[in-house]
Amino acid sequence: MHFNLITIFPELVENFVSHGIISKAVETNKLSIMTWNPREFSADKNRRIDEKPYGGGPGMVLQPEPLIETINYIKQKNKTYVVSMAPHGRVLNQKKLLELSKKKNLTIISGRYEGIDNRVEETSVDEVCSLGDYVLNGGELPSLILLEGIARLVEGVLGDDNSLSEESFNHGLLEFPQYTRPENSKYGNVPEVLLSGNHAEIKRWRLKESLRRTLSFRPDLIESRNLTVEEKQLINEIKGEG
Ligand code: SAH
Repeated sequence: MHFNLITIFPELVENFVSHGIISKAVETNKLSIMTWNPREFSADKNRRIDEKPYGGGPGMVLQPEPLIETINYIKQKNKTYVVSMAPHGRVLNQKKLLELSKKKNLTIISGRYEGIDNRVEETSVDEVCSLGDYVLNGGELPSLILLEGIARLVEGVLGDDNSLSEESFNHGLLEFPQYTRPENSKYGNVPEVLLSGNHAEIKRWRLKESLRRTLSFRPDLIESRNLTVEEKQLINEIKGEG
């Protein structure tokens, strides 16, 4: 899968993608990532890319031409799906990541300052994505979050594709608590059942703890869920435990 990241601070994202699983996936050609600086597409002699907002108000707005021309340049070479990161977009979730991971070529736009001239969205963007109901200074971190969330769903990027299937949100529940060595520590002991080797018991315990976590942190996910008979039973047990 190929990513184009459009940003006026390419170094910020280049540094991030040159570490860990992402850089390994680039080395092994599972992913390719290019950064594009709209400043290089600015017709202004000082390579200016921002201006004051029409209608007044504080701050600066990214101008349409440099951004649209960057996107057009990318599109000349390859068909690409364009996502702009902004607080007014639809809030990102695991389902959206999975959907976007099926694209061959994705372009992600980072805004800065007060945001982007709306003509970019009107002419050149397929979808606007938000991270949540809060405002950051720039789209670089949101873009990298989108990239990382998608990249790890691309086949071959994570060593063990099994590790994806059990994760939080995949089945609409949060993941159960995980434990590793040591078995006993001054900070607490590993739940007995995980040491038992009884796979059916372990599976049941994990489902129950997934439900317990989800009930406690994200009750909305339980409300919108079609609970199985076993899940209803486990929830009753949890409630009985107080
Ligand atoms: N004035 C804008 C916020 C601009 S913040 C407004 O009120 O909506 C500057 C840039 O940071 C945005 O263009 C966007 O790319 C990025 N950004 C900030 N918060 C974000 C969020 N919650 N989700 C995605 N991108 C965000």
